[in-house]
Order: sequence, then C-alpha cells, then structure tokens
Amino acid sequence: MAVIKLHDKYFKPRIEASIIQERIKKLAVSISQIVDTERPLFLGVLNGSFRFAADLMQYYDGECDISFVKVASYEGLKTTGSVKQLIGLEYSIKDRIVIVVEDIVDTGNTIESVVNTLKSYGPKRIIICTLLFKPEVYSKSITIDLPAFEVGNEFLVGYGLDYDGLGRNLNDIYIITNKMKNIVLFGPPGAGKGTQAAILMEKHNLIHLSTGDIFRFNIKNSTELGELAKSYMDKGELVPDEVTINMLEAEVDKHPDANGFIFDGFPRTTKQAEALEVFLTKKGTTIEQMIALNVNEDELVNRLLLRGKDSDRPDDKDEAIIRNRISVYNEQTAVVADFYEKQGKFSKIEGIGAIDEIASRIAVVIE
Ligand code: AMP
Repeated sequence: MAVIKLHDKYFKPRIEASIIQERIKKLAVSISQIVDTERPLFLGVLNGSFRFAADLMQYYDGECDISFVKVASYEGLKTTGSVKQLIGLEYSIKDRIVIVVEDIVDTGNTIESVVNTLKSYGPKRIIICTLLFKPEVYSKSITIDLPAFEVGNEFLVGYGLDYDGLGRNLNDIYIITNKMKNIVLFGPPGAGKGTQAAILMEKHNLIHLSTGDIFRFNIKNSTELGELAKSYMDKGELVPDEVTINMLEAEVDKHPDANGFIFDGFPRTTKQAEALEVFLTKKGTTIEQMIALNVNEDELVNRLLLRGKDSDRPDDKDEAIIRNRISVYNEQTAVVADFYEKQGKFSKIEGIGAIDEIASRIAVVIE
C-alpha cells in the first residue's frame, strides 16, 4: 500500500482491507447473538456506509431486511444551527430491532438525530453499528453499541469515506498526511547540484542531504565509515549501496520534523532509488520531483578542476579521477533518471548559465 493523492492532498495507509473484513465478520457474529431468533432491519446511513453495510450483510447468516436512509441537513428559517431530517425510511420499524449502520461517528450529531427520529416510530430496539468511532470527540450520551474500530480525531478516507467526493471506492482506509517536499537533485559531478541545493533549502525550508558531504565529514573525523568510503572516493568509484543506503536513512531519521529533503548525490543507483522509495513510503511520503541538471562533459571537467584548485577534495584535483567519476555517472547513475521518469516525476534543466538563472528554471518546475 502506497501513499495516494486525492485532489490536492496526500493520504497514507491506515487500516488494511483484510483487517477491515476480519473485524466486520466478528461484528456480524455479535449481531446474530444479540438479535437471536428475530429478523432485524439493517438501516444503512448513506452515502458513506454503502460498502460497510454490503459487507456486513455478506457475513450475516440469519434472515434480515436491509434499507438505506439519508440525512439531509438544511438551515432552519428561525433557528441558527442546521436541522437534520431523515429521508427514505420505507419500512415500518414499529416493534422491530433496527441496526443502524454508519460509516463514522464523530461528534455524534448525525447519529443523535437519526436515533431520535427512529425512536418516534416505536422500534423495539435500536442498535448502533459503526465502522469507525471517534470517542475523543463524541459528545452525546447515546451508547455506540458496536464500533468496528475506535480511532483518534483523524481525517480518514477510503472504504466508503470520501474526501470531497473521492476515495469511496478504495478497499483500504487511509489517513491524511502532511506532505513533505522531497526533491532529488540529479546530474553528473560538477553539474551544480550543491549550489542549487543551497538555494532550494533556503527557499523552501528543507534539509539538504549530500551523501558526498556526509562521507567527507566522516573522513575528516576518521570514523570507520569514513575510512571505508575513502577507499572508493579516492578512485572516483561509488561507495557500496548497502553502506550508503543505511547512512542516508539514518540521516533522514535525524530530522523527524523536517518539511522535506533535498537529496543531492543520492540515489546514484537504481537499487538506492528503490530503497529510498520503500523508506519514504513507510514514512507516509514520497519523492515529489527529480531535477536533473544537464551539463556537457568538457564543462564539467573544467568546473571540477577549477574547484579542485581551492578545495581540499583530492577527487577534484586529478583529471583522470574526474573523468572516472563522470563515466561512473554515465554507466551506473544516469539510469536512475528512468526510475523517476516512469513515475512522471523527472525534469531536465539546462545547467549552464548564471546561478540565479538556473535557480529560476528549477523554480518553474517546483512551483
Ligand atoms: P559528490 O560529493 O556527490 O561528488 O560525491 C563524492 C563521492 O562520494 C562519489 O564519487 C562517491 O565515491 C561517493 N558517493 C556520494 N554519494 C554516493 C552515493 N549515493 N552512492 C555511492 N557513492 C556515493
């Protein structure tokens, strides 16, 4: 189950379809025990309960009737609040057991008005059965007899529940997620990823994660990771995936409240891209866009040799190592673009020109 988008909002998995079905089976059994030999009337409250009511019936063995009602709200002429009216009640419920089937009970306003109206027709008993119940916000005294799931004050969609019309057809239930802005800055060494990342970070209040910088920090501090990474970096080769992925995930986990991340120099292999996807999905987020900076090889070599003159990066000082880094990029890293292109998240930007011109080209894509 992945993160999904409905209109402008993102939702992550909350209750899996198989768990919903298991719970509904148990509810059906509880209902049979309560009604014993009587023939109850299941009364679904539209629209949200249509799926829950259908599945509940599927698992209910005894004789029963099913009908649906709708609660219409309208503004009263003299009163201030809205008035609720029950429409569509076709059955006589006098002296019958009525099972009200709701998708969600939150403050309880709707269920209260449904129950009050039904009571006026003299049923033998009313049993309230709801898929979701929010005890934290429930403010009425009517007992909610059979809630399938108790949830917090969360915004949920799926399995009958909608967000502005969408999501009712989903088999699982999803919860809204505060969407992070996660961007991959892509391109060969010397394309200007670090420079553009600094601008983006400032503008969107994002965390900039450069795997190259993290490795160099570890080398400087003579850590075990640094020592391992150095043996690859000095030759212009890639540090093994497993080491890099673990390190990157640990860095992301250091910023639980981040607005999002700019990944600079990661992912550099398809395996890294796949691992990042799985990792972000578990956190209820995803990559929004990969932005690739396009710069020709001669320009890259010139830029890196120039940078090598006043930096302490040994891999920028030797043209043979620089050329090896570029060929490693062409052979192992360039394919990562396909991974994002397939998802419609890839944009190529011309990486030659003034820094602020390139930044404006990126802004057009992001905003
Ligand atoms: P950079 O600063 O991005 O040019 O990276 C410098 C060097 O760090 C690379 O040539 C690799 O040896 C290593 N490195 C950085 N990021 C990665 C990565 N995602 N996977 C493997 N090696 C990496």
